[in-house]
Amino acid sequence: MQFSDLGIDSRLCGQLTHQGITTPTDIQAQAIPLALAGHDLFAQSKTGSGKTLAFLLPAVQRVMKQRALSKRDPRVVIVTPTRELASQVYSQLRLLIAGTALSGTKVIGGENFNDQVKALRKNPHFVIGTPGRIADHLDGRSLQLGGLELLIFDEADRILDLGFTEQVERINAAADHRLRQSLLFSATLEHAQVGALSRNLLRNPKGVTISAAT
Ligand code: ADP
Ligand code: MG
Repeated sequence: MQFSDLGIDSRLCGQLTHQGITTPTDIQAQAIPLALAGHDLFAQSKTGSGKTLAFLLPAVQRVMKQRALSKRDPRVVIVTPTRELASQVYSQLRLLIAGTALSGTKVIGGENFNDQVKALRKNPHFVIGTPGRIADHLDGRSLQLGGLELLIFDEADRILDLGFTEQVERINAAADHRLRQSLLFSATLEHAQVGALSRNLLRNPKGVTISAAT
């Protein structure tokens, strides 16, 4: 099995090969076709199983291939629990969109707010950040989600553990549900709260669970 078998376009496959990535992991093989087909997704697999590309590849491909439903950017928002994780996801995104007309920015706590406002004014296609700082930009109107087509929560279990439930609900409420597909990724399912969150955020989701043994 290769990424092209999952519907990933040849330019992105070439980018992956360049990084030495040729064979999809289990979570990628299952999640990518469902995400590309437009389903909401509730996906769980252990740390290190390749969840980042499982959501970034369909996200990048969607923005590359499909006409925007609205003129307003961003089209994709990715919420991560920590600054470090936001930075990792952002680095991977930059590799995937290098040499294209697509753009992204990172909004995390501890960095200059006004610099982020300036970066957001350039209307990037992708915004990656931590829940508190994303919510702050929504409050300040420096970030508006009227054109959002894809909302992704990475490590949803940790987002909840860190007490960001309220910010998650604000982000969810700010985005237009008519346009929107949502993907929720988690390393665990133990949390009863993760189930509650997925019921709030997702519409008719497909579930993908990779057992720890594989
Ligand atoms: P998770 O989010 O599930 O903890 P990551 O997305 O951070 O996992 O991926 C873990 C590591 O595996 C990263 O270094 C990533 O580059 C690498 N990786 C991801 N997908 C593949 C793949 N299909 N083949 C080889 N390495 C991969
Ligand atoms: Mg991860």
